[in-house]
Amino acid sequence: MSSINTMTKETNIDNTMEKIVSLCKRRGFVYQGSEVYGGLAGTWDYGPFGTELDSNIKQYWWKKFVQDRENIYGINASIMMSPKVWEASGHTESFTDPLVEDKITHKRYRADHLLEEAGIDVNNMSVEEMGEKMSELNLKSPAGNSVTEPKVFNLMVEAKIGAVEGEKESVYLRGEITQGVHVNFKNILDSMHPKLPFGVAQIGKAFRNEIVPANFLFRVREFEQMELQYYVRPNKEDGDKQFEYWKQFSMDWYKGLGIRESNLRLREHEENERAHYAKDAWDIEYKTPFGWREAWGIHNRSDWDLKRHQEYSGVSMEYLEQDGTRVMPWVIETSGGVGRAFLFVLLDAYREDKIGGEDRTYLALSPHIAPVKVAIFPLLKNKPELVSKAREVYKSVKEKIPQIMWDDNGNIGKRYRRQDEIGTPYCVTIDFDTLENDTVTVRDRDSGEQKRVPILDLLGSLSIY
Ligand code: ATP
Repeated sequence: MSSINTMTKETNIDNTMEKIVSLCKRRGFVYQGSEVYGGLAGTWDYGPFGTELDSNIKQYWWKKFVQDRENIYGINASIMMSPKVWEASGHTESFTDPLVEDKITHKRYRADHLLEEAGIDVNNMSVEEMGEKMSELNLKSPAGNSVTEPKVFNLMVEAKIGAVEGEKESVYLRGEITQGVHVNFKNILDSMHPKLPFGVAQIGKAFRNEIVPANFLFRVREFEQMELQYYVRPNKEDGDKQFEYWKQFSMDWYKGLGIRESNLRLREHEENERAHYAKDAWDIEYKTPFGWREAWGIHNRSDWDLKRHQEYSGVSMEYLEQDGTRVMPWVIETSGGVGRAFLFVLLDAYREDKIGGEDRTYLALSPHIAPVKVAIFPLLKNKPELVSKAREVYKSVKEKIPQIMWDDNGNIGKRYRRQDEIGTPYCVTIDFDTLENDTVTVRDRDSGEQKRVPILDLLGSLSIY
């Protein structure tokens, strides 16, 4: 083994968010949505490497939460849902209140509630009057921060469907994927005949008219969520036991993305943060350059959702126990954003160091989620014998590891830099020695170490999954 370029030293990183946004654009991870038309706020488009990373995160979630389990069923519900769903869930009502937003945490609060708590009678007060009163009293959010002007704001994104103008029906694009699961609860009971406890999982898009989309992928208007709704027997003992289990399981999953433990924490919701029906609520938070922020939520929602859908639809949402008793299960929800996981993975993996006397930037991505696992280089692209040997190696590796890349552009040093920025764990070079003895050079991303490996042992020498 030859060991060169092993000196790597982490340096302090400033402006990491700006650097990540720029790297994402430069290297084909994420672009501003509708960029050629000046951009559309709160939307981002994933490029080729971003799409692979995003898909690896989702596959890792699906494997751990669905495929590795026997009693969790995956579904894929519609984005457009009957307006009745959102009445039942409380979104239509609570998403159209006069809201103010905490300028720091971006949490939203009801302006009328803040005023009432300050002893003001808000009856017959217009939204403008509420705003004036709030500034007069210099009212802050419960976290003690300044707030925006109150606005009647509907967070739900509305669409019109139907072919005939004037007869179109309003629907909402779902504001959370949760309700798509609850409205299919009865279908799952009738088609899968599950035994309590069991779960229903989903990954899919959600849409919110966020007042202030900000911090790149952190707060956007179109995003994807990964959620498990785990239905349990409706009592405190089962509820608490399952809640603890899924809280820990979700945290372990997050750590499994390769994120440093010191940048993750679990935080219990304060009394005033919790929805009125929530029996328990915790967040997994990540330490971003803009502070600790929610990555994931774990909630004991009791029987609130099923009860409301039963009430609004008139369809029974009860589960029939084997002894004939009917129960309305409680639900433990574990829910997180794909885009936020993507952003936090990048923030955590971003590194700057010196290697072989030169500055470099690299992404220390965990190999199982890296968009490219291996890059294959012919040493020189104008030597047909090297290129054809390299093509052979490329083909045989690709059969086993689909996420690999061919790169013959520029000198080897440049190719290493490019792959480092993409986060590719291994680069394999086919050179003149390969033609003599069927060995290749395998270079490790993090240490920069290179070693010669027989082609026959190549796959076995890569730790990828
Ligand atoms: P926040 O308080 O940050 O607005 P939330 O409590 O409203 O989030 P939930 O409704 O619990 O979020 O949604 C579950 C998860 O979906 C969040 O933990 C987050 O990862 C993701 N998420 C929610 N809103 C957004 C958004 N606007 N952009 C990106 N991801 C989001």
